[in-house]
Amino acid sequence: MAEKTTPMMEQYYEIKKQYPDAFLFYRVGDFYELFEDDAVKGAQILELTLTHRSNKTKNPIPMAGVPHMAVDTYVNTLVEKGYKVALCEQLEDPKKAKGMVKRGIIQLVTPGTMMNEGPNDAKDSNYLTSVVTTKSGFGLAYSDLSTGEIYSTHLKSFAAVSNELLSLRTREVVYNGPLTEQNKDFMHKVNITVSAPTPIEGEHAEISYVEQNLTNTAEKEATRQLVGYLLSTQKRSLAHLQIAKSYEVNQYLQMSHTVQNNLELVASAKTGKKMGSLFWILDKTHTAMGGRLLKQWLARPLLNVDIINHREEMVQALLDGYFTRENVIDALKGVYDLERLTGRIAFGNVNARELLQLSRSLQAVPVILDALNQSDSDVLTDFAKKIDPLKGVAELISTTLVKDPPLLTTDGGLIRDGVDKQLDRYRDAMNNGKKWLVQMETDERQKTGIDNLKVGFNKVFGYYIQVSNGNKSKVPLDRYTRKQTLTNAERYITPELKEHENLILEAQTRSTDLEYDLFVQLRDEVKKYIPALQKLGNQLAALDVYCGFATVAEQNNYCRPSFHTDSQDIDVVNGRHPVVEKVMTAGSYIPNDVKMDSATNIFLITGPNMSGKSTYMRQMALIAIMAQVGSFVPADSAALPIFDQIFTRIGAADDLISGQSTFMVEMSEANDALQYATKRSLVLFDEIGRGTATYDGMALAGAIVKYLHDKVGAKALFATHYHELTSLDETLDHLKNIHVGATEENGKLIFLHKILPGPADQSYGIHVAQLAGLPRAVLREATKLLKRLEAQGSELAPVSQQLDLFAQPVTDSDEIEDNDSENSPMTDAEQDVLDDISNLYLADKT
Ligand code: ADP
Repeated sequence: MAEKTTPMMEQYYEIKKQYPDAFLFYRVGDFYELFEDDAVKGAQILELTLTHRSNKTKNPIPMAGVPHMAVDTYVNTLVEKGYKVALCEQLEDPKKAKGMVKRGIIQLVTPGTMMNEGPNDAKDSNYLTSVVTTKSGFGLAYSDLSTGEIYSTHLKSFAAVSNELLSLRTREVVYNGPLTEQNKDFMHKVNITVSAPTPIEGEHAEISYVEQNLTNTAEKEATRQLVGYLLSTQKRSLAHLQIAKSYEVNQYLQMSHTVQNNLELVASAKTGKKMGSLFWILDKTHTAMGGRLLKQWLARPLLNVDIINHREEMVQALLDGYFTRENVIDALKGVYDLERLTGRIAFGNVNARELLQLSRSLQAVPVILDALNQSDSDVLTDFAKKIDPLKGVAELISTTLVKDPPLLTTDGGLIRDGVDKQLDRYRDAMNNGKKWLVQMETDERQKTGIDNLKVGFNKVFGYYIQVSNGNKSKVPLDRYTRKQTLTNAERYITPELKEHENLILEAQTRSTDLEYDLFVQLRDEVKKYIPALQKLGNQLAALDVYCGFATVAEQNNYCRPSFHTDSQDIDVVNGRHPVVEKVMTAGSYIPNDVKMDSATNIFLITGPNMSGKSTYMRQMALIAIMAQVGSFVPADSAALPIFDQIFTRIGAADDLISGQSTFMVEMSEANDALQYATKRSLVLFDEIGRGTATYDGMALAGAIVKYLHDKVGAKALFATHYHELTSLDETLDHLKNIHVGATEENGKLIFLHKILPGPADQSYGIHVAQLAGLPRAVLREATKLLKRLEAQGSELAPVSQQLDLFAQPVTDSDEIEDNDSENSPMTDAEQDVLDDISNLYLADKT
């Protein structure tokens, strides 16, 4: 026989049915309860005690609870792991409810709608992305709910969509189409929660406001879907959502997510942390808004030379105007996260302290404007002209709220005297009542002769008169009524006392209620300024980034780059790698030029391992990115083209996400460059062909260089350990050999880290192996293997792959500090094998 469910559980199941994929936090008194599977799983993840409801029955219901005061922490833990949480509240006062207390979902918290509060997250955006499939491709829109910013674009392929999702580090995607198994797999691997769109019922002011400037239908659809999802999960009006800004990926310098990772723009590839990244170098911002904006800029360097120049102008002016910059920075330090504060105002969860933070932030703006206006730079004064300091808002808040209000907005103590007449009246009544109590205490002491008689208050009994046990006999029982007995005292009330108590308490309740109303009024008034506050937040964020760029340029001796739009020539004098230079002892970084005119498209870079080839190539890419972001660059001078795209094939990191082999990744990255690069692109290829057999690799590398040269025409830096490729300069006009200098001292290899013209004249494979401390036995064994190779002729590609280090001829016997005859320098026979390999390649070429 089925067991009877209680009305409460019936209500629970009814609500749970609507949110099958979320943890349902069901409010019961001071707790949120989880039941059934939610309880079992939740208890495990959140380390809660698992109990059971209705233990006596045959099928007790698993249950776990969290105290309502601490609910945020638990919700965050679940959502950070990719789950959703539906918060179910009691919608009426249980004391007043007839029958079952009404309950309902007040918010669905999801990975893409979580508002980060921790200080570590302040410089991160949390994006929810919406994707729609249409006949002509994909519409994509994304938003950070905490700031209300929205962007939209349209894309041709799902690969392009995936790339945007990864670049945005989106946590959740709302998608209207079915996912292929492969794409499902992909989303799972990159930890993106996929959610179904929610139906949009009725008209929503937010939707028409947000989409007002969009023309592309796919983008419109994606944006509607985005806002619809936000509204249906947040279940409140979202007045801070901003007008969607449409963009095209090719409006910016395009880099795939992999390229951004390879170049370590915002995080080190090794640690995933900020330290060691370009962001680490450039982030001298003082506001969280500035930090977030800088990250956005780094992901999307500009193509428009006028906007770039404007940014550079701002940086230049702040660099020259030291005092202006210092004053602006000082003022910025007092600016809170305006964008997120504005979000909280719209969201309705802002408290009085945060409103004061807003007002203090606004008070910093006139100081900033003064500083800018006093400078003698036109760009700075023009910038100042566009800023509205919103003085009225600052004043309204600071004259309405007390200086140090409590955290809770419901208990009073928020509003200044003199703001509202009625409130003042209540406060007078309270004060008079309290004065009356003091007077009563004195009077009663006199009347009864009880010196230590006291008037006190507690929440259960209200006001009382307390008399210690020793004085009990003096109590006038005709007037006093006994109310409570303590161990050493007795408490009484009188009708007069209760009458005044009523007056005081009523005034108090009314005044706290009124204070809350006044607070809401203030909040709603400030709400009207949301778009203006958002604009101001954005302007201050940009100013913060400019000041940061100026500071970095000054501290690290950067120069202002210049741009030409009519050619792709590169002329960098004494360029440096901004991060490598920073982690080395000051002055020890060797600067290098990059000079590539129209006669040079490809630099073929040879040189020993660890000599600095890869650093040189990355340095070029980082300088280009910094320049197109508006920053100064680490060089003595830099004249640059505007690059449209950057492609890289760098490092040997496996692509763990797609589960492809290293070589497969290597080839697909190479393919990207060959297919999509234009004459205006920058291509970095580091050690292409390494992932396969030597012949194979060398042949491929050679063919790739030739294709880049003949068909693509991009500026390319190509580092290789295949010494044989250096002869390509005989046939490829626009290819130049360069090498990283090294020299030998006492049989040891010294890296000069200096880029020099021409190919490296020697290969240092064995030296590097020796430097790396490879066991002597290995060197010996390898030499033997090489001899065998020779005997077996040229069919041993797979074996030669293991001999990568020895793929180059070693001619000078002095290079090896070893007198052991078995470890002798390469024999003629060995040399022949290597020559064979080279010949094979060269034969292929012709
Ligand atoms: P490769 O790509 O030739 O193997 P890397 O570019 O990885 O070599 O450089 C190896 C190390 O050499 C770097 O980590 C850095 O410490 C040092 N290095 C590279 N370039 C320079 C330079 N220009 N000045 C000083 N040190 C450098």
